Amino acid sequence: MKGNYTLTMIKPQAVKNQNIGNILALINNGGFRITAMKMLVLSNAQAKAFYAIHKERPFYGELVEFMTSGPIIAAVLEKDNAVLDYRKLMGATNPADADEGTIRKQYASNIQNNAVHGSDSDENAKNEINFFFATNNLYTSCGELVEEF
Ligand code: GDP
Repeated sequence: MKGNYTLTMIKPQAVKNQNIGNILALINNGGFRITAMKMLVLSNAQAKAFYAIHKERPFYGELVEFMTSGPIIAAVLEKDNAVLDYRKLMGATNPADADEGTIRKQYASNIQNNAVHGSDSDENAKNEINFFFATNNLYTSCGELVEEF
């Protein structure tokens, strides 16, 4: 399973702006299969835990506030080389630096409200997938349950 899965979130502003469908189309057209998906509002404690790695950064409080400001989509994406390929499809953290055709170039407003999240390593993908989904809710593209994460 290693290397084949990543976790994305469609962030609150992109959900509010009705861009869920547009972003999922870019994901599918980029060769990714959606193998699990849900809509939820993160609690303060969940957002703090998810972004704990950034807790010393000056923007941590603002980021937690933003990520709890409305519903998000969390989804598991399947593809060979999923983590790196999805980082490419997302584009740079700051949309001003993102390449043409990337999700962030098209749907992000600024460095914080940047439309989507994507895991940055296989290890974090595993942790982030486990954060949102029970293993018995994960399906491979062949319709088989993912047995191990
Ligand atoms: P990513 O992996 O490209 O999402 O970037 P990071 O892991 O560095 O940052 C996590 C998230 O924190 C980003 O996606 C942004 O939503 C937010 N963020 C990153 N840098 C900044 C910043 O300088 N200011 C603010 N307000 N938010 C930031």
